Amino acid sequence: MVSLRLRLALCAVGMAFAWAPPVQADTVPPVRAAPPLRPPPKLVVTIVVDQFSADLFAEYRQRFTGGLARLLTGAVYPSAFQSHASTETCPGHSTILTGVHPSRTGIVSNGWIDLSLTRRADHRVYCAEDEADPGAAPGLPVISAAHLRVPTLGEYMKQSDPRSRNVAVSAKDRAVVMLGGHAIDAGYWFGKTGFETFRGRQPSPAVVAINAAISREVARGDPVSAVPIWCAQHNLPINVGRNRTVGTGRFQVAPQDFEAFHGSPRMDAVTLQLAGAMFDEMQLGRGPAPDLLSVSLSVTDYVGHAYGTEGQEMCIQMAELDRSLGRFLTKLDASGIDYEVVLTADHGGLDLPERLYQQGLPTARRVDPQLWPPTMGIAIAEELRLNLSEPLLYGDSTAGDIYVSRAITPDQRTRVIAALMARLKLHPLVAAAFTAAELAAGRVPSGNPQDWSLLDRARASFDPERSGDVVVLLARGVVPISTALPGMVATHGSAWDYDRRVPLLFWRRGLRGFEQPAPVETVDIAPTLAATLGLRLPPGTFDGRCLDIDGGWASTCN
Ligand code: ZN
Repeated sequence: MVSLRLRLALCAVGMAFAWAPPVQADTVPPVRAAPPLRPPPKLVVTIVVDQFSADLFAEYRQRFTGGLARLLTGAVYPSAFQSHASTETCPGHSTILTGVHPSRTGIVSNGWIDLSLTRRADHRVYCAEDEADPGAAPGLPVISAAHLRVPTLGEYMKQSDPRSRNVAVSAKDRAVVMLGGHAIDAGYWFGKTGFETFRGRQPSPAVVAINAAISREVARGDPVSAVPIWCAQHNLPINVGRNRTVGTGRFQVAPQDFEAFHGSPRMDAVTLQLAGAMFDEMQLGRGPAPDLLSVSLSVTDYVGHAYGTEGQEMCIQMAELDRSLGRFLTKLDASGIDYEVVLTADHGGLDLPERLYQQGLPTARRVDPQLWPPTMGIAIAEELRLNLSEPLLYGDSTAGDIYVSRAITPDQRTRVIAALMARLKLHPLVAAAFTAAELAAGRVPSGNPQDWSLLDRARASFDPERSGDVVVLLARGVVPISTALPGMVATHGSAWDYDRRVPLLFWRRGLRGFEQPAPVETVDIAPTLAATLGLRLPPGTFDGRCLDIDGGWASTCN
């Protein structure tokens, strides 16, 4: 036991050291009082560009002259990570404004299998639905944040001051739900012919007007998009089978073709128009407390899936996205309010193997259809002589979660998992497979996400209730679509950095811009924004850390 007197003496010694003047004053940097933190912005604008990989950003950043060029004058992190293995839209969006990995958001993929859900034959659950809602019908999910296990930034803002508004818009309902969370003041996504909202809510007059304008536009159709001169090298047809090619598209919309409109750069333009209309109608950023406006732009993802990432289509999309973002930011500027922007992506993407093959990546290939979980289930049931009246294995992709039927004994289950693991580990297109027990025993690491092991990555999107009994990761460059289909020739979802690495840009008037190439994470976004908003949240709230987004000596973290 140290006496009080001794403790005081030790304390005094410590203080003496702390206050000792520098011996060589000329080598010590001048000490300046920390500048006062800027007052919180009146409006935080979160922009997610769906499937905007760090690779696409690197390829096109020198071409940007619109909104993206503006954001490039702010804090630029070209190497941010959606660190987890399940690089899909729902998990990716779930990390951005919660500040935690999917292992804590509970959003392990776009959809999972719940074998206890017996009233659905396929046992499938959509990430952004409430399947327990009595209004849920087959093919008509009730859109809800019921599965999201943590609050979002907008909810923390409302807890701090209930006058803060939390608004989210996108072409995709799951993006709206995962960015907005459980307490959304206004949330809209695109249905078949216009923007829709949550069950029991009516679209506001501004949304009704935009939907009417969309109907008029689609009734007459849209001409082909202009092609920037630098897109010429991308204009090359790539054969994807059966007299079908991609690479030369220009997004013409035939009259009344809502589907073509939905998949064209016009969809991002009207999503941003809707965000602008919400800004006006709700007077966002002009209330007594800061507001949050989240916008997820889906077309980069639609283009990546339908045409791949390196054709003329994506080149046009990058130019149109930049232009639409420019119009939106100019509108915010005209209001004169102090707003802060963050732009990132929910995941990256990989081009189609047919073009990769032609462009110096001969190992790129489509997945072996034998890896389809129900197909493997048939083979394993035969091998182990199991006679089941239902499928042995469930799963909706050749990569990710595989679920074992509950209609077998614990002993049979152990043998099935062993047989499945043996098959997967022998397959040349499989990089790794983990059992739920292996994943549950792991811990989500911190530190440089580039250095995480495959187990670490899979652990970061593992939830013991929702993930599969086995999680399979395909080898690098293997596209989990066995046959190219219209609208689906390429994809994302792997544990590799082309799917995990995304750009992260912050901009606010008056902040000194900089570029920081060191890896950061998308779970850093929420703590970074929370700091500029002055929100005080308990330690452990976030998996990420606050990034100082002022390139000068002032800090935006505290
Ligand atoms: Zn996505």
